[in-house]
Order: sequence, then C-alpha cells, then structure tokens
Amino acid sequence: MSESLTVQLSDRIANMEESATLAMAAKAREFKAKGINVISLSLGEPDFKTPKHIQEGAKQAIDEGKYFAYPPVPGYQDLREAIAKKFNDENNIPYKAENVVVSNGAKQSIANVMFSLLNPGDEVIVYSPYWVSYSALIQLAEGTPVFITGGLENDFKATAEQLKNAITDRTKAIIFSSPCNPTGSVFTKEELEAIAEVVLAHDSLMVISDEIYEHINYTGEQVSIGSLPGMVDRTITVNGFAKGFAMTGWRVGYIGAPLWVAKACTKMQGQVTSANCSIAQRAALTALTSDLGPTYEMKKAYEERRQLVYDLLSEIPGVKLNMPKGAFYFFPDVSSYFGKSTDGYEIKDASDLCLYILEKAHVSLVTGEAFGAPECIRLSYAASETELKEAISKIKEVLSLLS
Ligand code: GLU
Repeated sequence: MSESLTVQLSDRIANMEESATLAMAAKAREFKAKGINVISLSLGEPDFKTPKHIQEGAKQAIDEGKYFAYPPVPGYQDLREAIAKKFNDENNIPYKAENVVVSNGAKQSIANVMFSLLNPGDEVIVYSPYWVSYSALIQLAEGTPVFITGGLENDFKATAEQLKNAITDRTKAIIFSSPCNPTGSVFTKEELEAIAEVVLAHDSLMVISDEIYEHINYTGEQVSIGSLPGMVDRTITVNGFAKGFAMTGWRVGYIGAPLWVAKACTKMQGQVTSANCSIAQRAALTALTSDLGPTYEMKKAYEERRQLVYDLLSEIPGVKLNMPKGAFYFFPDVSSYFGKSTDGYEIKDASDLCLYILEKAHVSLVTGEAFGAPECIRLSYAASETELKEAISKIKEVLSLLS
C-alpha cells in the first residue's frame, strides 16, 4: 500500500473476527503446502464425496443447457417446492414454497436473517457454546449477541430459565443449533417445548433454529421447534445440503420462515448475491428428491467414529468430555493443560494449545474460544478412522510432554 494513501478499511470489517474455523483450515493448508502432512480435524467438513447421483444431477443440468441464466432470487420454484415438502414430511412444519429462500450456504441464510431482522442495538440471545459465525453476523448487522451458556456438566445446554432471565425489551431473536456445532448436543422435545413456552410469552421474539446437522443425529429423535404448537409463525428454520449430503463446496443453504421474513431475506439477497448458483440448485434438487440411502450410510460411519474417538480421547489424562448426541464434533475441556509448558511453548489457553498441537503433532483443531468456551477445543471426526487414530495418538503424545 502506498505510504501517502490515507483511506482505511471500515470499522465494521476492522472490528469483525475472522472465522476461526476457516482460519484454522487455511493454516492447515499452509502447512500442507510446505510438505508437512497435517491431519485436518478443524473444519467441519464431511470427508465423503458428494454422492454420485447428485453429481449426475448437476451434469445433467449443464447438458440440458437450461440453467445458465440468473435463477429467481429465492431459488427455483421446483426446488422451493421440494424443500417445502421436505419441511412438511420430515420436520412436520407446514411451510409452503413461498416460505422458502435458497441461499449460498446456511451461513448466507443466517446473514440474510440477521440483516433483515436487526436494528442497531437489538439483542439476539445466543445459546453458547455456539457456532463461530452467529456472533460475528449479529454484530455485522449491528445487533448485540447476548450469550446464555451451558457447561459440560449439563451437556452444554443452557436452560429455559436462563433464556427467560436473558430476555430484555431489546431482545428480538434467539439462535441455537440442534444438533449443536460445536458440542454435538441435541435438544429433546421437552427442552424445545420449554424454549417455545418462553418464546410464546413474548410477542416480539423470533427463534432462529439451525438444523443443518439434522441427518447426523444419533438419538433417534429429531424435533424441529417450528413444529411445536404456535411456533411456525415464530420460527426461522435454517438448513442446507452441506452436511447431510456431503455438499459443502456446492454452497446451498435455505430457510423456511414466515412470509414477511422470507420476503425480506429475498430482498436482501437480491442486492448481495442475486441468487444461489443455478447448477448447485439442480444438484440440491436431485439430493432432495432421491433416496436418502447415502446420507444414512454416512451417518452410520460417523456414529462408529464417534465411539472410536470417545474411547481414544477418554484415555488422555486431563481431558474431560461428553458423548455428543449429534453432528461430528467432540468438544473436550482441556483446561487442565493451561499453565503448563514445554520446549519453548507456554500453554496459557486453548488457542495456545491448538497452536502447540498443530506445530508439534501436525493435527489441526479449533480453539473453543471461537465458540464461546475458552476451556475447550473442537475436534471434527469427519475424517477416516486411520487419520483419527493417528491424530489422537499424536495429540496424546504431545500433551504428555507438557508439565
Ligand atoms: N460449519 C463448518 C464448521 O464449523 C464449516 C466452516 C464454517 O463455515 O465455519 O467447521
């Protein structure tokens, strides 16, 4: 940059946190580019390939030659209809196609919602630990995140009582993911009913329910809060194709929402990205209208890895963990290592520990600080069993050097 240039970046971007998940993934790529074989357990990304029939759906769309123009801003009508049908059939939420907006990943869906709902100073109650981008997007929309926190002892689930106590006259929405990224916790029907009761007692409160991990739920019970009595008008249900269909790079997310919210998100999206990629939408339609066999197969594999990782992590002294009920993350408490040191490394917190593990064990993880839990680290087990075994054995080894 020229020294005479006085123009500066906006405060908005200067004050914004970089996405810790993506930053750690970039760091792992840097190591790999230098020829260092890093096992990447930082990014929550299925290690499976997008199922063949979905790839074929995209190829067919290209060959048909009909999908090269701008799609409608909220998505192709047939895809929106298929998503509405999915909401009705699988989630028991009576959204229609007009309630659905398709976006470039669930992240853009959440961004659209925050920009559409929040005025400066409006508060959003965030169930913590939370996915990294919730707080950043709320702040970008000039809202204020208000955290309610659950700990390891209660499976990281804040209670309805905590929710009630956090509501002020500025509270506009609450947001959580179930299954939860990063903790793997899943709200039971009773817990969701307790949340709904609190929400329904306040006319000015919306729920943003992130259900992107719905297909990776080991409890056998996936309940959408939007299906509970009175909640369809109060709920924005966020979902996408990345996790359940191994389609992270295709970038297809969506919401089901009351019409006034769906229209606002469409208006927002019309100015920012115009629409989601046409071919990716055709692939998503194939995913939704085909057999879910590959999705169940992937879930089975994650479930087996979950047990493996649980057993291996449990053997490491000083690591405290719960058994996640969904998603593909472990979120162990590693605070017993804080204050320890070795060989020029001083471990003050989880960020130091992640850096130490990356540099010494060549395994990339994400600090819990980014998810609102500075005592924890996040490990994604969307990796092969061989990689997981090797990674955890290396982590165990380098942790044992700390004293
Ligand atoms: N949701 C994934 C994760 O938490 C993808 C990365 C991201 O977009 O943050 O790792």
